[in-house]
Amino acid sequence: KRTEEWREFDKSKVYMADLESGLHYLLRVELARHQTLEGEQLRTFKDFVTVVAKLFPGRPSVVKLLETLLEWIVSLPLDKIPYDAVLDLVNNKMRISGLFLSDRVQWVGCQGSSASFRGYPCSLWTLFHVLTVQAAVRPDALANTALEDDPQAVLQTMRRYITTFFGCQECGHHFEEMAKESMGAVKTTDEAVLWLWRKHNQVNRRLAGAMSEDPLFPKTQWPTPDLCPTCHEERSGIHAWDEPTVLDFLKRHYGATNISPKYTL
Ligand code: FAD
Repeated sequence: KRTEEWREFDKSKVYMADLESGLHYLLRVELARHQTLEGEQLRTFKDFVTVVAKLFPGRPSVVKLLETLLEWIVSLPLDKIPYDAVLDLVNNKMRISGLFLSDRVQWVGCQGSSASFRGYPCSLWTLFHVLTVQAAVRPDALANTALEDDPQAVLQTMRRYITTFFGCQECGHHFEEMAKESMGAVKTTDEAVLWLWRKHNQVNRRLAGAMSEDPLFPKTQWPTPDLCPTCHEERSGIHAWDEPTVLDFLKRHYGATNISPKYTL
C-alpha cells in the first residue's frame, strides 16, 4: 500500500534523491546483513568505496563523506572490520563533522506504484550507469588507486558488489552469468558504458511481464523512441540500435548535468 505522496518526475532526468537514497540503503541496510567484513567481502567493499568516492558526481557533503569513508578504510591495518564500525562512521562521526547522507530513503525516478516495486534495485542500476559514464568522461579520476587504467574498473567492482552483497541472490547469479560471458572483452571505458546498457536491456527482456514488474513501469528496451528517436534504426525491416548515438545519449542522460537535485533533503 502506498503511504507516501507521489512525487512528480521527468523520466528524461536522473534524480540525485534516488542516488543518495540508494547509497543510504546500501550502507545502512544491505551491508548491515553482514556482521563483519573480511577477506573477499572487505576487498569488494573497499573497491566499491574507492569507485564511488572518486567517481560519484554528488553534492559536496556526500562526496566528502565518501572520501572520509575511503580514507578510513584504506588506513585500517585490519583484515576484518565489524560492520558496526562502518555504521558508526557513517551515522555519527560524519554527522558531527557536518558530512551528510540523508537518513531515510526517498525515491523519485525510482518510485514504485507500491512499496514492493522498484526503489533500491532501480537506484543501483542508475548508480552504476552514472559511474560508468563518469569513468568514461573523467579518465584520470581513478589515478593513484588500485583501479587505475582499468577500463573494466567500474564493471568489475559492480560485478563483485552484486555477487557478494546484493540481497537478491538470483539477480547476482544471473548477472555473474552475463559477466562471465563477455565482461572480460570490454577494452575501453566507452565500451563499458555500452556493455552495461546492453546487459540491462537483456535483463529487461527477461523480466518483462514477470510478477516483479511494476504495472505502472513495464520493462522496455531502453531508451524508448520518445526519449531517443535517433537511437533506433531499421535495417531490412528489423529493429537495430545506432550504437554511437546510444553512447552519446547515455553520456548525456547519465551525465552530471542531467542529474536533478529536486526532492533532495
Ligand atoms: P530498472 O530495470 O531497475 O531500471 C531503472 C531505470 O534505468 C529505468 O527506469 C530506466 O530509466 C533506466 N533503464 C532501463 N533500461 C536501461 C538500460 N538498458 N540502460 C540504461 N538505463 C536503463 N530482478 C529480477 O527479478 N531478476 C533478476 O535476475 C534481476 N537481476 C538484476 C541484476 C542487477 C544487477 C540489478 C541491479 C537488478 C536486478 N533485478 C532483477 C531487478 C530488476 O532489474 C529491476 O531493477 C527491478 O525490477 C525494478 O525495475 P524498474 O522498473 O525500476 O527498472
